[in-house]
Order: sequence, then C-alpha cells, then structure tokens
Amino acid sequence: MSNTPRRAGRHFLQIPGPTPVPDRILRAMDMPVIDHRGPEFKVLGLKVLSGIKTVFKTASPVFIYPSSGTGAWEAALLNTLSPGDKVLMYETGHFATLWRNMSLKLALQPEFIASDWRSGADAGAIEARLREDKGHTIKAVCVVHNETSTGATSRIDEVRRAIDAAKHPALFMVDTISSLASIDYRHDEWGVDVTVGGSQKGLMLPPGLGFNAVSEKALAATKASKLPKSYFSWDDMLHEEGLERVFARHDRHAEGVRRAVRAWGLEIWCKEARYYSSSLTAILMPAGHNADAFRKTALEHFDVSLGTGLSKIAGKVFRIGHLGDTNDLTMIATLAGVEMGLKLAGVPHKADGVRAAMDYFTGTARAPAS
Ligand SMILES: *Cc1c(COP(=O)(O)O)cnc(C)c1O
Repeated sequence: MSNTPRRAGRHFLQIPGPTPVPDRILRAMDMPVIDHRGPEFKVLGLKVLSGIKTVFKTASPVFIYPSSGTGAWEAALLNTLSPGDKVLMYETGHFATLWRNMSLKLALQPEFIASDWRSGADAGAIEARLREDKGHTIKAVCVVHNETSTGATSRIDEVRRAIDAAKHPALFMVDTISSLASIDYRHDEWGVDVTVGGSQKGLMLPPGLGFNAVSEKALAATKASKLPKSYFSWDDMLHEEGLERVFARHDRHAEGVRRAVRAWGLEIWCKEARYYSSSLTAILMPAGHNADAFRKTALEHFDVSLGTGLSKIAGKVFRIGHLGDTNDLTMIATLAGVEMGLKLAGVPHKADGVRAAMDYFTGTARAPAS
C-alpha cells in the first residue's frame, strides 16, 4: 500500500470524531456477515433497538440507519416537515450551518439566528423569535447540542423551557452527534421531538450508523409531512410496528391470558381491573400447591419458563409474561404449556383456559395492517 516505513506504537486519534474505538469493539466486528432476515439478526436487532433507548434516555422508538450523521439530519427533517415549512435554526457554528444548508436544499425555509460562533444557543433569542411568530408559521426549532466546530455545548433544557414559555407548538430537533454518550443528554425529560445521533463520536463506534430518537409528537407529524422520502422514511423501517399498535397488542394478549386464568378457575393476583398489567399477569396458586414446583414441571416438560413469585409472594404466585415480540400463537402455546403443566403437577383446575383464550383471539382477530 505504501512504501513509507512502518511507525511503531499506537496512533493517537484525538480528533472530535471519528473517535478511538475500543479494541474489544473492533474485535467483535471481526465476524462473518450474517443473514439480515435470519433469526440471529432478529435477536441482535431487537436487542440493539431496545438497548439504544437508554443512551438517549427515552422510552420512545429510536430509528437506526446505515448512514452518516448527515443522513440522520436529513431523516429528521424529511420525516416531519413539508416543502416551504419555516424552521428556526441557531448558528452555533459550522455544523449548525451545514444543517441549515441542507434544509435549504430540501426546500425548507430556514431562519438562522446569527451568532459569533463562540457560545451555545441563546434560549432567550429563540423565545423572543417564537413569541413574535403569532401565526405559528415556524414548524421546527433545530439546535446543535454540542457544536463540534467550536466546542460550545448548548443548554437543551433551557431551549425547551423557552419554547414552552412562548407557548409555541414547533417541533424541537436536536443534533447530538458529538455529545451522545459523552455529555448528559435526556431526550424524554427535555421534551425533544427528534434527536439526531451518529455512531463515530461519543458512541465510540466506527462511522456508519445514524440515529433518530423520536417523540410521539414527531411520529404524529410524519403523517402530515409532505417532503418526499424513500430510504430515510421512518414508515419504511421494518421494525416500526407503531407504538399505538404495540400497546393494543399487549392489551389484547393480556386479556386473552386473563380469560384463560379465569377459565382454569384460578385467581388473578391483581385485584382490580383498572390496575391490570398488559405486560404480565401474576396468578395465585390454589392453597396447598407451590408455584415453584409447578413452574419446574412446566419448564422440564414443555420448555416454558414462567416468572417466579418474588419475596413476599414467593411460592404463592407464578407470572406469565406477555410482553415483547409475541403473537397470538406464541401466547396460545404458552397457555397450553401452563395448562399441561397444571395437569402434570396435579394442580386442580378446569382444562378450559386455552379454549377461552382461543375464543377471545379469534373473536378479536384482525389481519395485520399491511
Ligand atoms: C460530525 C458531526 C456531524 C456530521 O456527521 P457525519 O457522520 O460526518 O455526517 C453533524 N453534526 C455534528 C455536531 C457533528 O459533530
């Protein structure tokens, strides 16, 4: 490749991105490519999608793109805005300027609050501009959290308070490409609608991944957004089931499980319906029967793991989880495992639980929206 003599020792990559990648990450990457539609990728993908939320401090979905941070900028704008929309941006430095230039190319109308590049975004100036905008023509406020070109970090909590003080409905978008996982950042607590991230800076990964953490308000905005989108469309992301649909699915599976429990003649541990959990159901064992002995029987014979009773209710209850990536058939199979386990463990019950759940699932069946 090169005739220059080899330099001994480690290179010090002390630039603000790409950043040094831990050796064990580099070693973990050295593996064969796997099938992106195979079971291994599915497990990995779901783990990554749920794990990444903690980094953004959000309970909302995070979209992951095979892209640079620039791609994630574009995705944030494309998915929420329409041609001609006004966006209020703050000139913290070079990266804020690049984001503004991109918005121009996307046929948005950026309004740039000028600065001398020597400080973070001035929340007071943002509030003043939003107060003037009585007609709410500004659709988004975009701020770079950590301006990599200048070394100034904006106070995102203050900008949020400024938007609220002006009682302005604009979406709030924040670029955290060089701050995520390096400087404290709180997507949910600070009421950010789209947080833009990249892999190669604070996250200590090689370049190549872009992130959008999105609020429910941003997800709703995407329905009205008219900018053309294809590769970066949030809708096209295979994993995106839609939060509402996810919640409805959990409600429905929980109800099926409760019907099975009642049909077995067993008691749901939670007394009042308004406190019923849609992610799990705890079930009281009949007197004289130990929940853990039953759980052991079910596990040994049918390979189904059920939750144990914890501390005060140890041995008295077992728990059926109905959260995560479940569907009607996995729930029915689980209930069948419980029902057969009850039988083998000699726990008195009526063998009508699976039937009750099947009746409920068929009675409420709907084809998944395509
Ligand atoms: C690096 C950086 C970008 C651009 O990210 P790329 O992955 O190079 O496209 C955008 N914003 C900030 C604040 C950055 O530090």
